[in-house]
Amino acid sequence: MNLLIMGAAGSGKGTMSKLISKKYHITHISTGDMFRTAIKKKTPLGKLAEKYINQGKLVPDDVAIMIMEERLNEKDTENGFLIDGFPRTLAQAHSLESLMQRVNKPLDLIINLVVGIEALGPRITGRRVCQNCGEVYHIVNSPSKVPGICDVCGGKLVHREDDTLERLETRLKEHHILTEPVLDYYHKLGIVVDIDATPSIEEVWHSIDTVLEKMV
Ligand code: AMP
Repeated sequence: MNLLIMGAAGSGKGTMSKLISKKYHITHISTGDMFRTAIKKKTPLGKLAEKYINQGKLVPDDVAIMIMEERLNEKDTENGFLIDGFPRTLAQAHSLESLMQRVNKPLDLIINLVVGIEALGPRITGRRVCQNCGEVYHIVNSPSKVPGICDVCGGKLVHREDDTLERLETRLKEHHILTEPVLDYYHKLGIVVDIDATPSIEEVWHSIDTVLEKMV
């Protein structure tokens, strides 16, 4: 299965991606995670991406497209993948389409997580991420067993610099202007399933799993 997951900041893409890739044994590819790793390692890519990400803005298309091209050529994508956070612009969508044709890996489905804007603020401000392994928590909805410490690896949990209400506003604007046209494009192709991502993690996962079960 070759999947995309889309949705605004705080819609639960990361959380659902982890559950999907675990159950269906497909590789989770998150451009956001790739950029954050590069920032942590202080690579040239990281230094460039950091300037945009910390302002809540999108990293330039050519950079995002380049890392996706490299990633999709890796061997672990052969048995299926789930792309999270890409494409975020029409230019990225068109590049992905030609890339997939080239590597002969067509897209099967796009999962679109739909959440009302009022739910996003509390989700974003309460989100905590493991500095070491990237596991995602929420201080109210899915807290770690020991506050501030990752259940999986014992790493320190941090609040992402772009997870503030101010940055959320910019991120939502970028989403509205640049990413919604991508969704319209995919809707017209008839390959999108809209999932109500307002309820609990368990309920959203159940809705997604029900759709995917029918595909395998
Ligand atoms: P995410 O973890 O998906 O919320 O992404 C965090 C940030 O990384 C975004 O707000 C963007 O600044 C950047 N980013 C991630 N994916 C892309 C992409 N496909 N194109 C441009 N910027 C991206």
